[in-house]
Amino acid sequence: MNRWLFLSMVVLFTVAIGCSQPSDKETTDTRKKITFVTIGTGDITGVYYPTGGAIAKIVNKKREAYGIRTTVEATIGSVYNVNAIMTGDLEFGIVQSDRQYQAINGMKEWDGDPQADLRAVFSIHPESVTLLAAVDADIKTISDLKGKRVNIGNPGSGQRGNAIDALEAAGINWQTDIKAKSVEAAKAPGLLLDKEIDAFFYTVGHPSSAFKEATSGHRPTRFVAITETGELIRKFPYYAKSYIPAGLYPGAANEEDNPTFGVKATFCTSAKMPDEVVYAITKEVFENFEEFKRLHPAYQVITKKSMLEGLSAPLHPGAVRYYKEAGLM
Ligand code: GLU
Repeated sequence: MNRWLFLSMVVLFTVAIGCSQPSDKETTDTRKKITFVTIGTGDITGVYYPTGGAIAKIVNKKREAYGIRTTVEATIGSVYNVNAIMTGDLEFGIVQSDRQYQAINGMKEWDGDPQADLRAVFSIHPESVTLLAAVDADIKTISDLKGKRVNIGNPGSGQRGNAIDALEAAGINWQTDIKAKSVEAAKAPGLLLDKEIDAFFYTVGHPSSAFKEATSGHRPTRFVAITETGELIRKFPYYAKSYIPAGLYPGAANEEDNPTFGVKATFCTSAKMPDEVVYAITKEVFENFEEFKRLHPAYQVITKKSMLEGLSAPLHPGAVRYYKEAGLM
């Protein structure tokens, strides 16, 4: 939801409860403090947006008990989410594990400026650095991208950094060797189908509606393997090998799983977030784990144990309280 619209709704709601002042007794008996929290996600064709929705759905079931109202905001991605958590514009955000690592250690977009107040809550689904190309553009390997129009992602997204890493690992200079575009992932499938671009990168969980759209149009497409990843994986602790199962996108020309590398989606907040809010959200997601897992096919592989892995910022004490109580740490 648009932030201004959301804020206006909060103001209207506050005015509404202010206008119908209950008696003093009612005030002390029934009026509870309400905490509004917003989860920053990604654009609506990715997996972050439904993930924010899945967390909000589960937590909002207990809104009377906790006095927490959770809403979800579509955003331009991980880097934006970290920055918005740090400024207090967002209470929570979904952030790629590599971006979490870079933010807490003052690297890349945060070069020399570690985001010391960033806190990890849990990790969620795996995300693959995904490269999809039009078959007519004759791109069979990452090296074939030279001279082509390639969307590497908008500034503020997580994938832009991964696309640059993948290109550099293959010896391609993204500024001079390709015609790099910097548009948001949601627009890339349309641009590919309209022949405005030849290929695009997107770091996302699978299946995602962005790739369903891009692989089921009138322009045939294929996933391109990213295999020059050995050095990247040795150098950066947040990268691991991954693959895109061919069966997920029957419209793509690939007959076999497509090898690449990937990261994890993680749930983050600020050190300033009250312990009881983080505790409540963590507890509800973990205690309703089976229901949560059913909410998106990208969660199939996750376990409660895997949700504590891939985190590099300090865990928020509210989350630690639940993990200790539940015997998870
Ligand atoms: N990984 C992408 C990013 O951080 C977002 C993917 C999604 O929305 O599922 O920008």
